[in-house]
Amino acid sequence: MTIYSMIKNLHEKLISGKTTAVKLAEEYFSHIAKKDKNIFAYLTLTKELALEQAHKVDQKIKNGEAIGILEGIPGAIKDNLCVSGIRTTAGSKILDNYIAPYDATVIKNLKEAGAVILGKTNLDEFAMGSSTENSAYCPTKNPADLKRVPGGSSGGSAAAVAGDLAVWALGTDTGGSIRQPAAFCGAVGLKPTYGRVSRYGAIAMASSLDQIGPITKTVEDAAIILSIISGEDKMDATSAQSSGKDYTKYLNGEVKELKIGIVKKYFDNLGKEVKESMENVIAEYKKLGAKIKEIELPYSEYALPAYYIIMPCEVSSNLARFDGIKYGMRVDDKDDSEMNSAGMPKTLLETYLDTRKYGLGTEVKRRIMLGTYALSSGYYEAYYLRAQKVRALIKQEYAEIFNPSADGIDLILTPTSPTPAFKIGEKTENPLEMYLADIFTITANIVGIPAISIPAEKVGQLPFGFQLMAKWFDEENLLRAGHAYETR
Ligand code: GLN
Repeated sequence: MTIYSMIKNLHEKLISGKTTAVKLAEEYFSHIAKKDKNIFAYLTLTKELALEQAHKVDQKIKNGEAIGILEGIPGAIKDNLCVSGIRTTAGSKILDNYIAPYDATVIKNLKEAGAVILGKTNLDEFAMGSSTENSAYCPTKNPADLKRVPGGSSGGSAAAVAGDLAVWALGTDTGGSIRQPAAFCGAVGLKPTYGRVSRYGAIAMASSLDQIGPITKTVEDAAIILSIISGEDKMDATSAQSSGKDYTKYLNGEVKELKIGIVKKYFDNLGKEVKESMENVIAEYKKLGAKIKEIELPYSEYALPAYYIIMPCEVSSNLARFDGIKYGMRVDDKDDSEMNSAGMPKTLLETYLDTRKYGLGTEVKRRIMLGTYALSSGYYEAYYLRAQKVRALIKQEYAEIFNPSADGIDLILTPTSPTPAFKIGEKTENPLEMYLADIFTITANIVGIPAISIPAEKVGQLPFGFQLMAKWFDEENLLRAGHAYETR
């Protein structure tokens, strides 16, 4: 039997009494105990919190009360999202001892929906990376092949879902960090429209690009999670004026009237098997009745370079708060470092410098330096301002291509990444090559549109994903088309 919704399936089991929420949570904790030694998806387990929530759900079922679709269903949270009272590291040593004092809005929504939180998952430090190898703790392994990376930066969340260590997970996506790891691990990953989901309580990387979204086994599960976490939030000034919707309503298998754009050029440099996998996806959509249309997106070529200016600028500003005073680690907490080299007590500046020197990793420092440089007086106009102008042109290009009154298309289809998962260590020496892993995903963040990665046919033995992008706030068509492919 093909299961289109793990969440629904488990929900049925809970209400029919075939299992209980506590049993389910304990089953997942025992999988984690057995398997996560090799995968390292989790940084912190939240057993107490999980069982407390699960008990509540079981009590409701016992009392004959109706339960919501996500009640009692265990999931995992990327460790850059604040969960009250729980250690939240963002994959960095600088936050090694940081206990979040409040819940992110998405967590508040999930808790209200009765979801069970199993733990916090590993990530590239402050979400900077494409392989989870930049985590200050340990790299996560791809459950499909332990010698390979799970992608990043939400590699822990994707590995947890693909490795059956959670039913669903949350990730964050600044340039592809939900979609690319989902593709590498064989899961579904959804980056919502910028503003669709509140970012309150997400540890910021680049605020104009960051979005929170689900990683799940199926498109229907992604729709269920999105319905719960989305909506306007007064705690996030960039959250869009929209009320929460039930996105599962749109999953009717109907793609006949949809126009899907493909950029021929994107297929030219792909490997043979990757190309074949993509051609099969196109053929399937044609069979389903969608119209495939060739399009051109000349400005999109500049999305990656623009991203690697805009993102570090925002990083350099956002990460200035980690100075050893306000949050997390302080290097002069250690007895031997309270004095400076002259034998005098440390000055404030020395505390800042030492804390950041020991607390932050190489990639994070690289980006802070790039950003500080690009924003400095004399360079600002040449770099940051120029990149923002390029961003405006790319946005305009997308608005035109999606414009319904100019015979625009509904969706754009690309591979999620140019290759399947690479080997651990393969790209760590070459940051530029690592950056290219996001060539297809970054544009959606630059433009602010929603995008989803869905498993395609495997490439060799490895999972591989294709990406669909839709116009602003058109998650409906995105999920509908994704679901139609999955259930074809
Ligand atoms: N891999 C990209 C980067 O390193 C994207 C990261 C992300 O989406 N958080 O910037």
